[in-house]
Amino acid sequence: MKEIILLKNGEIALKGLNRSVFEDKLISNARRRLEELGKFGFRKAQSTIFVEPKDEDIDLDEAVDILQKVYGIIALTKAAVVEKDFEAIKETAIIYLKDELMEAKTFKVDAKRSDKSFPLKSPEICRELGGYILEHFPHLSVDVHNPDVNVVVEVRDYAAYVHGKQLPGAGGIPVGSGGRALLLLSGGIDSPVAGAMMAKRGLEVYAIHFASPPYTSERAKQKVITLAEKMTAYCGRMNLFVVPFTEIQERIKDDCPEELFTIIMRRYMMRIACRIARQQDCEALVTGESVGQVASQTIQAMACTDAVADMPVFRPVVGMDKEEIIKISHKIDTFETSILPYEDCCTVFTPKHPRTKPVLKFVEQAEQAMDMENLIDRAVKGTECLKINR
Ligand code: ATP
Ligand code: MG
Repeated sequence: MKEIILLKNGEIALKGLNRSVFEDKLISNARRRLEELGKFGFRKAQSTIFVEPKDEDIDLDEAVDILQKVYGIIALTKAAVVEKDFEAIKETAIIYLKDELMEAKTFKVDAKRSDKSFPLKSPEICRELGGYILEHFPHLSVDVHNPDVNVVVEVRDYAAYVHGKQLPGAGGIPVGSGGRALLLLSGGIDSPVAGAMMAKRGLEVYAIHFASPPYTSERAKQKVITLAEKMTAYCGRMNLFVVPFTEIQERIKDDCPEELFTIIMRRYMMRIACRIARQQDCEALVTGESVGQVASQTIQAMACTDAVADMPVFRPVVGMDKEEIIKISHKIDTFETSILPYEDCCTVFTPKHPRTKPVLKFVEQAEQAMDMENLIDRAVKGTECLKINR
C-alpha cells in the first residue's frame, strides 16, 4: 500500500497573495530537514502539502517526527493513497486503519470531495463507508461530535487519500519567511527558548556566543554548540559565532566601577552582536532576558543595553515565568543540556552588588574612560564561525 504524508498549513493559509511564497519556504525547509532520511517529492494543493517518499526504505514515522518540528505546519498525518474507486477506498480504510479502529470505541467518517466528478457525494461516502466499518468492527459506534477515531477520505485530483487521526504540527510560520535575526546564545535555559520562539514567528536564527577562556572552559563552549545543534530541529541550520571576550571583560574589570561591570559588559556584547549581525544580514537581535528574573534584568538595564543597539532587540520571554520557559525548553529538548553546570562568561568577575537600576548617563561616563575600539575590532576579527547543520 502506497503511503504519503499530508501537511496542513496553519497561518500560511491566511497570507493571501503571499501564500505561495510561504508555502514554497515551508517546502524548502521541510525538504532540507528530511534530507537525512532520503528523497521526497513535494506537491501543494488546497492548503495541503503532499509529501511522497521517493526511496524504498524510508521510515515514514521518522519523517513525521521530523516534520512535527517544522514551523508552518498546523497538523499532519500519514495517509494511504488509493485509486478513486469506492470499493478500493472501503477496503483500504478497514485495512489501513485497523489498529486504530480496534482500539477505539467510537468513530466518524469525514469526506472531502474536491474532485466533483467522483460519483458519490460527500454525505454518501460518509454513510456508505460508515456502514461498512460498522459491519467489520461491530464493537464500534458512531459519534459525530467527539469520536475516538476520525476516518477521513479525501477525493482529490490525482487520487483518493485515507487517514485517521491527525497529529499536531509545531504551528507558527516557516523559518526564514520573516528575515534573519542574531540570537545571543548563552549556555542557559532561556536563550535557546527565545531563539525557538522567534523561529516560530518565521525568523531565521543565527547565534552568537561570548566565551572567555581560560575563565570559561572548552566544555562550556561545547555545551553551546550542542544547544545550537539541538535547536536546529526547530530552527533549521544556523551559523554560530563564538566571540573571544576575555580581553574585553578584563579591561572592563580593570577600568570601570565594579557595580557597573555587568551592565557595561552587556553593552559590549550588544555592540559586537550588532557588528556581526550586520555582516550576516541579520536585522534584529534576540535575547533570553525576562524582566525581574535576575538583578541585571530590569527595565533600566534593558534601556541601557538597547541604547547601544542600532537594530530591534527582541526578548520573546520577557514576560514569562521561569516555569513557562522551562516547559518550552523541555519541548524543544534543550533543557537537559542547558542545566549542565558549566560556567558562563557572565559569571566571571560578577560584582557583589551590581547596580540593578543603572542610569544611562553614568554608564556612558564610565565607558568614556575606557578605550575599547581596538579591543572590539580584535574580538570581531577573532570570532569563529561554526556552521551548525545537524
Ligand atoms: P540564559 O538562561 O539564556 O543564560 P539567564 O537567565 O542566565 O539567561 P543572563 O545570564 O542574565 O540570564 O543572560 C541574559 C541574556 O543575555 C541571555 O538570555 C542571552 O541572550 C544573553 N547572554 C548571556 N550570556 C551570554 C553569552 N555568554 N553569550 C551570548 N549571550 C549571552
Ligand atoms: Mg545565563
